[in-house]
Amino acid sequence: MNDLDRRTAEHLERQQYRIVGETGAVKLCHWMRQKLIYGRPCYKEEFYGIQCHRCMQMTPAVNACNFRCLFCWRYHGMTSLGDSKRLDPEDLLDRCLAEQRLLVSGFKGDDRCDPRLWEEARQPNQVAISLSGEPTLYPELGEFIALCNRRGMTTFLVTNGSVPKALERLSPLPTQLYVTVAAPNKELFEKLCVPQLAGAWENLMETLRLLPSLSTRTVIRHTLVDGWNLGWEDEYAKLDRVADPMFIEPKGYVFVGDSRTRMRVSNMPSHASVREFSLRLAERTSMDLLGERVDSRVVVLGKKNAHLRVRE
Ligand code: SF4
Ligand code: SF4
Repeated sequence: MNDLDRRTAEHLERQQYRIVGETGAVKLCHWMRQKLIYGRPCYKEEFYGIQCHRCMQMTPAVNACNFRCLFCWRYHGMTSLGDSKRLDPEDLLDRCLAEQRLLVSGFKGDDRCDPRLWEEARQPNQVAISLSGEPTLYPELGEFIALCNRRGMTTFLVTNGSVPKALERLSPLPTQLYVTVAAPNKELFEKLCVPQLAGAWENLMETLRLLPSLSTRTVIRHTLVDGWNLGWEDEYAKLDRVADPMFIEPKGYVFVGDSRTRMRVSNMPSHASVREFSLRLAERTSMDLLGERVDSRVVVLGKKNAHLRVRE
């Protein structure tokens, strides 16, 4: 690990990340705590039926991202995976699971924690591959997903869509594939997502064109930042029609983590404005509003008969 990566690791550990090898990381999700202590699940449990107390939030590429989105709550002292020693998928998964169990063990002594949920939380059955960094930069992502499948775990993968070739090759595909589209056009994209590679917008467009051919559940995530990218429903709808996803998730930016150094509280849109944007987008994409969560400022759009739930 070079000096820059060591400093990154120390910074992340102060934020309660557990670094796994040189490029992986696990962090307990805020919603897992909410579920274990207050029985309050995340919106993805409500929408898609995953069990959020059994969800492991991890990344295979903690130190590598090719964007510097201003709204990103993660640390931006990232380099690239090129210089780091990667764990193989089996090691990565085993060590992430071990860290997750250690993190969960802290709840045992908490009287508010339901012991049945605690026991279940020690056996994750869902992996959110999203925590930080761009996961498609990890070359063994397909093998990692295959391993999760073999162990009975569903996978949700979140990508910024900058590496269409990696998605094209990805086998197997995750249970649910998210592509973030945080700008309606190239000009805003360059300013807000600050790509570190040439042709990033064109790559994202290629990813959108690829999406209809991928046989898995696909979601376009619009992260909405007030004063930046909220509005432009005609342009977003045009992009969404190319991707033809099963679902669209317009979600309000939240003023947390490192994004507080780049944004203001006033950049968080209200749920009402996320909802209004979503209804305009629904009209333009012939989708319906299938669900919403006020506390997460999120809406899910989809076709009327779409099968929302991954697990019943
Ligand atoms: S699906 Fe996302 S929000 Fe829900 S528990 Fe997993 S990481 Fe957290
Ligand atoms: S693509 Fe994701 S991890 Fe990378 S800077 Fe943007 S929000 Fe952060």
